[in-house]
Amino acid sequence: MESSQHEVAVIGGGIGGLIVGYGLYKEGYDVHIYEQAPAYADVGGHLTMDSPTVEVLARWCLDEPFAEISCKLDGMEVRGIDDGNVAAYFQFPSLGALGVDDTKDTGIRVLAAFLRPDFLDMVTSRMPKERLHTGHKLVALKSGEDYATAEFENGETVQASVILGADGVRSIARSMLDEAETHAAGHTILRTLCSADVLPEGYPNDRMRFWDGWKFGDKENLVGFHALTVPVREGRYVSVDLQFIGGDQLEDCNWSDVPIERVEARYPETMDPVIKAMVDARLEPITTHTLYDRRVATNWVDGRIAVLGDAAHSMRPNLGQGACQSIHDAGQLVDSIKEFGLSNEALKHYEAIRKPYVESIVETAKNTTPDPKKWKDKGQGAA
Ligand SMILES: Cc1cc2nc3c(=O)[nH]c(=O)nc-3n(C[C@H](O)[C@H](O)[C@H](O)COP(=O)(O)OP(=O)(O)OC[C@H]3O[C@@H](n4cnc5c(N)ncnc54)[C@H](O)[C@@H]3O)c2cc1C
Repeated sequence: MESSQHEVAVIGGGIGGLIVGYGLYKEGYDVHIYEQAPAYADVGGHLTMDSPTVEVLARWCLDEPFAEISCKLDGMEVRGIDDGNVAAYFQFPSLGALGVDDTKDTGIRVLAAFLRPDFLDMVTSRMPKERLHTGHKLVALKSGEDYATAEFENGETVQASVILGADGVRSIARSMLDEAETHAAGHTILRTLCSADVLPEGYPNDRMRFWDGWKFGDKENLVGFHALTVPVREGRYVSVDLQFIGGDQLEDCNWSDVPIERVEARYPETMDPVIKAMVDARLEPITTHTLYDRRVATNWVDGRIAVLGDAAHSMRPNLGQGACQSIHDAGQLVDSIKEFGLSNEALKHYEAIRKPYVESIVETAKNTTPDPKKWKDKGQGAA
């Protein structure tokens, strides 16, 4: 059985794991990243990032490469789901204006949209290969006084002065610190990608676009539906999201290739034909992403272990803040480790700074998402 020793081991090579790993690597630490997937995938949906988050990337000179893989967006156009008519255009607000207790009022406003695999490639291509370990699924974590130990499904073990759990919404690292369960939120997002050439005149691919169509069906079977698109890869492509709230959550489908008949069965009777045209012209299979709720972890730290990103605080995606906050976690972890060394004190310092702020964002994201259970109680048309 192979066993390694490092200063820092990061579990999970997603958005937060890669950035904390890259930041520590650039600051001179002996850091290794352990990802369960056999390789970094080349398909995946879009994400948006706000300017304060890009400033964290700039600390390690990732802002320019990020500008090359992302499209800057100033606002959102709202269209009717049935007729496609423009109902409104508004500039993105600040996070404070959305209700988050954000005294510095720094989050959101101008957004940069990008594809997740482009981001992962941007970071992994700048790190030495020997620091990136794919095919390593964490199965157990243990913290001692001066170090922590991780065990992987393949039988390998790793000992490190600090272990950072960035293993996402169904985090195993977190389950060592906190028993809160994960619940499906009753929201499913289907994603695909098409060429911008599919868009007709009057649909410039330079903005976020939202087809507002929340509720359909009768009182017993209320289903919400809307569509959202963002331009990616210099505006040459459109990333398409269809969101279903309540009803059939497609749980029996293969998440990475949802049959088109199942999608079409959920379309409203009258729908802007542009939505169907984009899906019909898809360049990638339709993937499905179930949203999960899990309360913010009570403890983010145990001895030499800390969690970050979705592992500590998964949230609804409607504020577009999940990845942003995992990157801010990464920035703060690097700062705390630089200030207090590879110690429990550093991890506690990180938790004390990040937790109260993130709690406010998670709460706002939940309160501003439609809840199908409430519709059922109040009847169709209720908010
Ligand atoms: C539909 C949708 C839209 C979103 N849009 C936005 C947006 O516009 N802007 C935004 O900021 N956020 C958005 N988010 C949220 C964002 O995707 C997440 O918050 C972000 O990816 C969290 O980063 P993370 O590093 O914590 O976790 P992830 O990026 O999920 O990475 C976790 C990694 O850990 C690995 N892993 C899991 N278990 C193990 C294990 N046992 N051992 C080893 N590795 C493991 C996984 O394979 C994965 O690579 C969206 C989310 C969804 C679902």
